[in-house]
Amino acid sequence: MAAQETVDHKYVYDFAEGNKDLKDLLGGKGANLAEMTNLGLPVPPGFTITTEACQAYLATGREPDGLAGQIEAHLESLERGMGRRLGDPHDPLLVSVRSGAKFSMPGMMETVLNVGLNDRSVVGLAAQAGGNERFAWDSYRRLIQMFGKTVCEVPGEEFEHALDEAKRVRGTTSDLDLDADDLRGLVDAYKKIFLKHTGRDFPQEPREQLDLAIRAVFESWNAERAVLYRRQERIPADLGTAVNVVAMVFGNLGPDSGTGVAFTRDPASGAQGIYGDYLANAQGEDVVAGIRNTVPLQDLERLDKRSYDELLAIMARLEGHYRDLCDIEFTIERGKLWMLQTRVGKRTAAAAFVIAGQLVDEGLIDLDEALHRVNGAQLAQLMFPRFQLDHDFEPVAKGVGASPGAASGKVVFTSARAVELAAEGEAVILVRRETNPDDLNGMIAAKGILTSRGGKTSHAAVVARGMGKTCVSGADEIDVNVPAKRFSVAGQTVTEGDVVSIDGTTGKVYLGEVPVTPSEVVRYFEGTLDPDEADDALVRAVHRIMTHADAARRLAVRANADTGADAARARRFGAQGIGLCRTEHMFLGDRRELVERLILARTDTERSDALAALLPLQRDDFVEIFREMDGLPVTVRLIDPPLHEFLPPLEQLAVDVAVAQERGEDVAKEEALLAAVRRMHEENPMLGLRGVRLGLVIPGLFAMQVRAIAEAAVRVTREGGSACPEIMVPLVGAVQELETVRAEAEKIIAEVVGDSGVEVLIGTMIEVPRAALTAGQIAEAAQFFSFGTNDLTQMGWGFSRDDVEGAFFWRYLELGIFGISPFESIDRDGVGRLVRIAAEEGRAARPELKLGVCGEHGGDPESVHFFHSVGLDYVSCSPFRVPVARLEAGRAAVETVGSDSR
Ligand code: PEP
Ligand code: MG
Repeated sequence: MAAQETVDHKYVYDFAEGNKDLKDLLGGKGANLAEMTNLGLPVPPGFTITTEACQAYLATGREPDGLAGQIEAHLESLERGMGRRLGDPHDPLLVSVRSGAKFSMPGMMETVLNVGLNDRSVVGLAAQAGGNERFAWDSYRRLIQMFGKTVCEVPGEEFEHALDEAKRVRGTTSDLDLDADDLRGLVDAYKKIFLKHTGRDFPQEPREQLDLAIRAVFESWNAERAVLYRRQERIPADLGTAVNVVAMVFGNLGPDSGTGVAFTRDPASGAQGIYGDYLANAQGEDVVAGIRNTVPLQDLERLDKRSYDELLAIMARLEGHYRDLCDIEFTIERGKLWMLQTRVGKRTAAAAFVIAGQLVDEGLIDLDEALHRVNGAQLAQLMFPRFQLDHDFEPVAKGVGASPGAASGKVVFTSARAVELAAEGEAVILVRRETNPDDLNGMIAAKGILTSRGGKTSHAAVVARGMGKTCVSGADEIDVNVPAKRFSVAGQTVTEGDVVSIDGTTGKVYLGEVPVTPSEVVRYFEGTLDPDEADDALVRAVHRIMTHADAARRLAVRANADTGADAARARRFGAQGIGLCRTEHMFLGDRRELVERLILARTDTERSDALAALLPLQRDDFVEIFREMDGLPVTVRLIDPPLHEFLPPLEQLAVDVAVAQERGEDVAKEEALLAAVRRMHEENPMLGLRGVRLGLVIPGLFAMQVRAIAEAAVRVTREGGSACPEIMVPLVGAVQELETVRAEAEKIIAEVVGDSGVEVLIGTMIEVPRAALTAGQIAEAAQFFSFGTNDLTQMGWGFSRDDVEGAFFWRYLELGIFGISPFESIDRDGVGRLVRIAAEEGRAARPELKLGVCGEHGGDPESVHFFHSVGLDYVSCSPFRVPVARLEAGRAAVETVGSDSR
């Protein structure tokens, strides 16, 4: 038998072994630490345990074979490199253990600092720090606190109480006033708390501390808040996190030490410059948690010019290297700068456009890349309205504009209350001193977030920006009292339920509800703001990128519009025609009575009278739309909904008739109506008498509509315009249905159009699965297909589109059966496959067949990419989403490889 060779799978990478493209394996943090190490930047040495190790651990509940040995080997090499050993009582090495998934999940998972400290090495640490005992004991108590809380689930408040008690005894409110003895006492108190909750002493063996911390980081992938965040951000649940074990450097060794975060450009506006926060004599978590008030990064120039200059040079180098906005965490240990993290930074929607434009100007990226770096969801955010301010509205406070937008709502102080009121349909503003990851539910439910502490990089700010939610942070004039459910500001008290308005762009806070004004970007799209004259960098950037998207895209973009006003608006937004003009609403209002006559007609004359009365009304509707869409195609869909929608509700009518009969009134007419309504009653109206079925059952109905369309087109053309109608038959499942309607329609069209030059196309919706599967046959009778993905989803899945989303989709989302409602984003595998089959088979039968989509998916960014890949000619969506679809169609055209724009 051949000797069995076992080669360990590689689970641990030294920083020198990785690079920025290994995010899947090393997580974002690990991959970028490796990249910086290889760029020769000052990164503390360390290694990364891969996401594969985490996946294996989560699948089996134990560390995979070989992992322990690989950690040992890398630890030894780290110890050799640093000339220090973990746990050495004289000169200890300490490490941090940090999570780092492929996609950034700020504050969602665990970190443990100062691993390696115990009762003996704490003494060595004091010696290392030049006899600074206070520092050593402070580090030790932080380890017990973090380790206890994250690794052993000891309630964090117990540690907080012990710390408060130590401060009380010392007669102070600041941690900094506690001396070495106080902190030594606090370590004893913390150890007792640890013992009480875990039944064991705080582990003194450094390697055990390390292993338990690594395991806790693995497990934190499945912590409730991390699961919730992933769902919100659509991050797949099976990626796992990497774990970074890094030699500790200390920002809390005295005034010549400190820690900070920085951005290479303003992540809110995109403006160039130096943005960041610095906190002297502190550890990194203090900045991110927004616990102490930071100073602007510029102040570092005064405090430590050498480190400041070095940092600026590194930031410029990183931007050039990543060709993008970077965010950075750094620590200065006694005048020596260390880079602890970098990544391509999250940014607001506005900053995404502005920065993409700037980077093109700077020659770092081309326009295709700029287009790739923005997306439709961001553009949609920029189209939100902003506050309309005049002298009546004076802000009561001003904080940091942490995430832009304008939000008004009722004040709530807890995440739970935010969720409760939002479920009742209320707009709420979550007000906190600062947020922490436990507030995530409330942040999702709220319209906006207001905090009295923390800067642009506080938890509230980072998470809100990621969600595209309005946030004002660090409004320190506001004194928040959560238990009393109120805050005070400028001598006034605001209690739960009072309305406030917050402006996430300016950071201003207003009492009461402030009216809103449309966005500049919308004004630009509407043509009332000239991008060349706008002094707004955002509008210019949007214009430039949209122009490129329009030039690049292959998909045309039309709008779903059924009034002249909607058509006009759609056209201003760049629609290249109407992809769906629903005619149902044209039968409502004061025309309802005519429709009732049509349905109840007992003789041909009664029916044709009703139709004759409807004809001119319909014709005028179409004239208005054709005029607005002069020269562009307009797809008019023949009437679709179930007829009972035009009749009184059955139950009500039955009661009315019974009551009238009881009173002996003459109810002959009502009885006839009731009989008709009973006849038309359907158990499943969405699967019943609608669409083409209706056209085939009620003689003259479709004919009247076809005539109205053709006459309107002729009239507009005779006026000197150009009408391009496309008549669309709904709910076709068999080619025979379409052929029957088409034969009648063609006769009418020929008769009406004569020699006017008007050309009318006839096509069909593909919205019944059978139509998709017999598309080859149907194409023989259709000049175009338009995919009705709403019905196709309904009938493809068997999901009633009016019911299921509210009824049980939450459970399907929770179980991960789908990550997003298939009514919102096309289900590529199932419904999308029907679209693909129909497109291929339709085109095979009739190569010049025009293909479009007019279901809601036509304006959904992800779905637009799918429709591009299937080879459709256009997407059609609601007017407001037209710019989003234009942008995404452009992105789809320039992204030949799969997009990863998170
Ligand atoms: C569709 O089914 O996708 C469609 C566009 O038609 P409606 O939504 O009117 O049924
Ligand atoms: Mg439909």
